[in-house]
Amino acid sequence: MLARAVRVAAIKGIEVRLDPSVVLLAVLVAVLFATRFLDGFAPAMAFTMAGIGSLLVVATTFAHELAHALEARHRGLEVESITLLLFGGVTEMHASGQSARDELAIAAVGPYVSLVCGAAFGLIATFTPDLLPSTVADPVAEVAGLLGWWNVLLALFNIVPGAPLDGGRVLRALLWMLLRDRLRALRISVRAGQVLGFGLVGTGVWVVASGALPLIPSLVGAFVLATTGLFIANAAQRELRNAELDEVLTGRTIRDLVATFPTPWPADQRVADGHARLVEADALDGELLTIDHPDGRIGAVEVASIGSDGGDHDATRTVGELGTDVTDLPAIDVDADLHALVDTFQGEHRIVRVTRDGLTIGALTEREVARALERLRRAGTRAGRPKDDAVTSGEVPM
Ligand SMILES: [Zn+2]
Repeated sequence: MLARAVRVAAIKGIEVRLDPSVVLLAVLVAVLFATRFLDGFAPAMAFTMAGIGSLLVVATTFAHELAHALEARHRGLEVESITLLLFGGVTEMHASGQSARDELAIAAVGPYVSLVCGAAFGLIATFTPDLLPSTVADPVAEVAGLLGWWNVLLALFNIVPGAPLDGGRVLRALLWMLLRDRLRALRISVRAGQVLGFGLVGTGVWVVASGALPLIPSLVGAFVLATTGLFIANAAQRELRNAELDEVLTGRTIRDLVATFPTPWPADQRVADGHARLVEADALDGELLTIDHPDGRIGAVEVASIGSDGGDHDATRTVGELGTDVTDLPAIDVDADLHALVDTFQGEHRIVRVTRDGLTIGALTEREVARALERLRRAGTRAGRPKDDAVTSGEVPM
């Protein structure tokens, strides 16, 4: 979802982005508010109030996210961006050097700000009728009252203790202090998040099946519950995978991923002779072989295309003709940290060159790196390493 987000502003170097789905949030909230306001106000006034209320929902969600971001910044963490989307907001930051105490404060400040917003709107709703004429005070008090409750509910929902909600982070930070094992604390909070997520989906199914509400409201309610539940369960799982992946990446280099790269082939090698050479070089495991061209350019050819019969290609061709040029693709040293390798694949690149002392010794595809990392991850993670993972803080407004 985040890839589609549009950058709208920057606050103290923190990028503020809007995902197109935030429009859906605003429309849903406006419809919900309008149905309530139409009960006591003329249509034009009711829709105006609903529109303003909906914008204020987005604004207070942003205030909640900004609180996380500024608290993180205050504690010396690097904050990348805040993105507003259908499910509220996401603050992306680098948790390098984050202590359990930092995590607790950064997580708790969001619901705290929502509670403060809730209280402020509650005060406005309570006192405007005494201060302003009723034609102005009535709509203001109505909108403020609804916003007040909305923010209180947002705060209460977000302190439910399951990742990726703020309450899940608070739980994780407390467990981390208690158990002194961050990954174990994370696993427990992720489990709680999954139970919460699937519990919401189950509640949605129950709402429809029980027939307790009329059909349309029950379907809308079930849809909101189910999508929110799936979003939470999914985000919880992703958080665990990211943390486990980070465990795998930290302290390892490309040498830990690929024991040896076969010597680059001369470009004039015939495809027909390739298979025997592959077997000889014990190079059937990798996906790519590099090719040395006489002019110094580097090529790469897929191992799969050099089958025993030369693959689908004319076996009289040379590997130089068959391969693609990778000279200008990003390069990474074989002793580089695996975090750097994964970063190299960001953007449009699916292949990287691997170098030693500046010379190309091989090439890796994104797919084979992902597979190798998955193998390492399944083989088990090691505890007690320094962490430098990117974490996000997710909000669920409904
Ligand atoms: Zn939050």
